[in-house]
Amino acid sequence: MKLHEYQSKELLARFGVPVPQGDVTSDPSEAKKIAEKLGGNVVVKAQVLMGGRGKAGGVKLFTNSDDAAAFAKDLIGKRLVSNQNPTGMIVEKILVAETVDIAKEFYVAILLDRNIQKSIVMLSAEGGMEIEEVAEHNPDAIIKLAIDPAYGLCDYELRKAVTDAKIPKEARNQMISMIKNLVKAYEAADAEMVEINPCALTPDGKLIAADAKVSIDDNSLFRHKDYQATSSDSAEDPIEAEANRRGIAYVKLGGQIGIIGNGAGLVMQSLDEITAAGGTPANFLDVGGGAQAERVKSCVELILMDPEVKGLFINIFGGITRVDEVAKGVLAAFEQLDTTIPVVARIEGTAVEEGRKILAGSRIIPASTVQEGAKMIVDLAKAS
Ligand code: GDP
Ligand code: MN
Repeated sequence: MKLHEYQSKELLARFGVPVPQGDVTSDPSEAKKIAEKLGGNVVVKAQVLMGGRGKAGGVKLFTNSDDAAAFAKDLIGKRLVSNQNPTGMIVEKILVAETVDIAKEFYVAILLDRNIQKSIVMLSAEGGMEIEEVAEHNPDAIIKLAIDPAYGLCDYELRKAVTDAKIPKEARNQMISMIKNLVKAYEAADAEMVEINPCALTPDGKLIAADAKVSIDDNSLFRHKDYQATSSDSAEDPIEAEANRRGIAYVKLGGQIGIIGNGAGLVMQSLDEITAAGGTPANFLDVGGGAQAERVKSCVELILMDPEVKGLFINIFGGITRVDEVAKGVLAAFEQLDTTIPVVARIEGTAVEEGRKILAGSRIIPASTVQEGAKMIVDLAKAS
């Protein structure tokens, strides 16, 4: 789960990372008050969960509160579009913060490196631009330092890293303590990533986080109830947000064949078989063990919220899950939903005979293997 910039900065500040003064609001007149309180030299920033807000026109500097307020009024409710997010996102909240005087910009992040199975520090003196761009054009400018899970970071490693990254001498000690604090925040929040870009060096030699991004491991949200409350608001896709509210494991993939399976492995296999049959998966959806009719219905509804979906493939192996319950749920869903899309179901396992009886004569087409089912639904979707 991604946190907004203002939430990220709050978290980092609690762990001693310097961040600019500021406040978040969704009200333009409130924005003016915040700007006045900060003395008028402010930056107004759209709080949307996408990169490249600067280029998209969602970040602007002002020298007086009237202009800041006028921009805030314009920005709230606007759809911001960037090259990373062509559909864009509506701005609901804005951050009004004191402008940081920037002499130099750096990049610093703590993130999980799955290849080496450790968290790493990523550091570069090439801040301000997207790190992917730096990685492409000047990969040597990015320094990576693995964090030993037992011993943590040693001072000598950090000193070497800031030197190798060509952080200017006067900022090195500050950068080292910032990295240590970032690691503390990263661990306390069960984060997958904390990133500061740009990490600004002011003309009077102070290091401060001008921007911050934090992403928390979804599996740890039960330990972070305060963020959990906002998790459905901050999902990037409206269907994923609805899935969050319903407690369903759903990821939108952008293709045309909706998929329901039980168990992540079976769902992954379904994605592969749909792709192998020449189709494109619309989603990942794990209905979970012991799926009752009501839940299956909720899952079908969710998938059909995606207008791109041209066919539905159901792949259930009943262990804990009773296949007849699934069949009932699917039928109930389609009785109530206004759709004509083709549906293919491969069901196997506990109570399969009862399940097949329930589906017999319905619009749901049975398949005996996953491969056969995938091919059938891809062909049907193409024909429809
Ligand atoms: P992003 O584009 O979504 O990463 O948003 P950022 O918060 O990084 O803002 C984009 C750019 O605006 C930054 O790279 C800076 O160059 C500039 N910027 C943002 N905040 C400030 C600030 O307080 N002072 C100055 N001088 N520039 C800022
Ligand atoms: Mn940034």
